[in-house]
Amino acid sequence: MDVSANPLSPRRPTRQISVGSVKVGGDAPISVQSMTTTKTANVEATLEQIYALAANGADIVRCTCNDAAAAEGLAHIVPRSPVPLVADIHFHVEMALAALAAGVQGLRLNPGNLRKPSEIKLVASEARDRGVPIRIGVNAGSLHPEIYEQFGGATPEALVESARRELAYFEEVGFSDVKISVKASSVSTMIAAYRLASETFDHPLHLGVTEAGPLPGGLVKGTAGIATLLAEGIGDTLRYSLTADPVEEARAGRQLLEALGLRERKGLDLIACPSCGRAEVDVIKVATEAQTALEALGLPIQVAVMGCVVNGPGEARHADLGIAAGKHRGHLFIRGEIVGVVPEGDMVAALVEEAKKIVAEGVEARLAARDVSAADAAAADRAELIDDRGVDVNHAQQRIAEIRRRATP
Ligand code: SF4
Repeated sequence: MDVSANPLSPRRPTRQISVGSVKVGGDAPISVQSMTTTKTANVEATLEQIYALAANGADIVRCTCNDAAAAEGLAHIVPRSPVPLVADIHFHVEMALAALAAGVQGLRLNPGNLRKPSEIKLVASEARDRGVPIRIGVNAGSLHPEIYEQFGGATPEALVESARRELAYFEEVGFSDVKISVKASSVSTMIAAYRLASETFDHPLHLGVTEAGPLPGGLVKGTAGIATLLAEGIGDTLRYSLTADPVEEARAGRQLLEALGLRERKGLDLIACPSCGRAEVDVIKVATEAQTALEALGLPIQVAVMGCVVNGPGEARHADLGIAAGKHRGHLFIRGEIVGVVPEGDMVAALVEEAKKIVAEGVEARLAARDVSAADAAAADRAELIDDRGVDVNHAQQRIAEIRRRATP
């Protein structure tokens, strides 16, 4: 997909910063972040998780730096990490300075719990000298008590004010290499806070709904907040905060950006019909098996699994590849054109084989190599299914006739 031709609101202009090799803000691609859940002092376990996060779409990874052992761990982890690392700092100025000494490519400070101006300015000066950016990470749940009091709660205005005050301290020491987040667990508060932040600052914004919770509710809340803002052109980097394996956060972030057309597809996009009375196979089972098999290959392709050949190939004609169930057989299609027929039990294997060939040879070559008799077979199955079950398989016309009969005075 041509990401420059996206019909969402134009992206709000922000200045650009660099978190190690990853640019954030300006015209840089919107980046995905996640956070490790291992003890940072456990170097091997943390690196293993960082690699898993990077493989699943994370561009930047954050690790907690909560004690000296964690900072020492970071000194070993940073040079071996495949992506830039940000140290998460709460309360302790020493940990911010130690993380910078460990070589991290970014810091996250929480203005709600690192409150002394002299300490804030000390960290900003050190980050300035090392060329390391800082995220001002305001969180509704740990807002500075003074600001909470002043605004009568963790309102959107209060969250933005907290970021503004922190930024003012940074600017006192000539540091503005900053991105900002104003997260809340309430989706509506978070949306309002980021809208206000976008009007107030030209620094890149890091989006997130904090403490969104376990799947699937956490995913819904995160998507509701993040996608709303992205559609308005707000946001330069994002993190889903899920009570789940952080790999799910990275995947969700990447998939959201791909779904909105804001990043090129890197992996599989599996679409499947919801199934209905016409379905000739167990769509959930076939789709799940296909997803597992295709994800393992990591191919950048859109694949459709459709429950019947009556509507499937047409409804999913935009997919690179798909399969629709006919009479005990599967009809393979490429961009809506039937290219082959396979036994029902071979549907997933056939999809996987064809996906590999499409990625290797291209759609046009695979269309040229199609089985020309397959379209006739699909048409025959389609006609037979309509004959068997009628066009009105869900009995809508019958119901409408009854409604009209009853509704007529
Ligand atoms: S593709 Fe066929 S089975 Fe799936 S929802 Fe559409 S009509 Fe129903």
